[in-house]
Amino acid sequence: CGIVGYVGKRDCTEVLLNGLGKLEYRGYDSAGIAVFQDGKITVAKSKGRLKDLEEKMEREGRPFGHVGIGHTRWATHGEPSDVNAHPHSGGRVTIVHNGIIENYKELKDFLAGKGVTFTSDTDTEVVAKLLDYRYNGSPIQTISETVRDLEGSYSLGIIFADHPEQVYAVRCESPLIVGVGKGESFIASDVPAIIEYTRDYYLLEHEEIAVLDDNGVQIFDAFGQPVKKELKTADWDV
Ligand code: GLU
Repeated sequence: CGIVGYVGKRDCTEVLLNGLGKLEYRGYDSAGIAVFQDGKITVAKSKGRLKDLEEKMEREGRPFGHVGIGHTRWATHGEPSDVNAHPHSGGRVTIVHNGIIENYKELKDFLAGKGVTFTSDTDTEVVAKLLDYRYNGSPIQTISETVRDLEGSYSLGIIFADHPEQVYAVRCESPLIVGVGKGESFIASDVPAIIEYTRDYYLLEHEEIAVLDDNGVQIFDAFGQPVKKELKTADWDV
């Protein structure tokens, strides 16, 4: 239901939890984050409120790093549970997802036929596994090819285990913005999640793919061609 992603110098876990807190008005039943810690993707997720996630991290360890993605879930496929909470991993690819994949059953059958196994009941895990199945070392190409097979409305925050400095995002119907700060960048379902860090943002259009890293933000169209976009400024107070 809510997505936040971060690349920069701050404590990523802090930025993600803070941003997700600002999106609480959208409602949710579970929350989770995935952060690159010492080059490895570390996931913490929990059914319940952000507070439940924080308590779980106090018990089991709080990921620390500077690149990651976070999610608050409003279950559509699979009951609210720790296992069904996002992020979902496909092996080399870990994602958070807003929305619904209409043709997930068909894709799941296809992957199952290739020997891929599933741990959750979500439509989201199917996307994570499909991205991993297709992954050829080129994130942009893999995302743009995979998105062509998805039906539904969705926005995705994506990290690749072998690209520990980058966060990727793509949208189809569900809203997603890309915040541009000084030496840091963000993705979010909505402006309030990032406005205390930056007011400058891009509105991602249908099937556009964003890449966030130390050099800032790059945006590509559905075919992987770079696009130039107008930077917007949020001039309201929250
Ligand atoms: N369809 C996904 C799920 O049920 C995402 C729901 C959401 O937007 O939070 O896990």
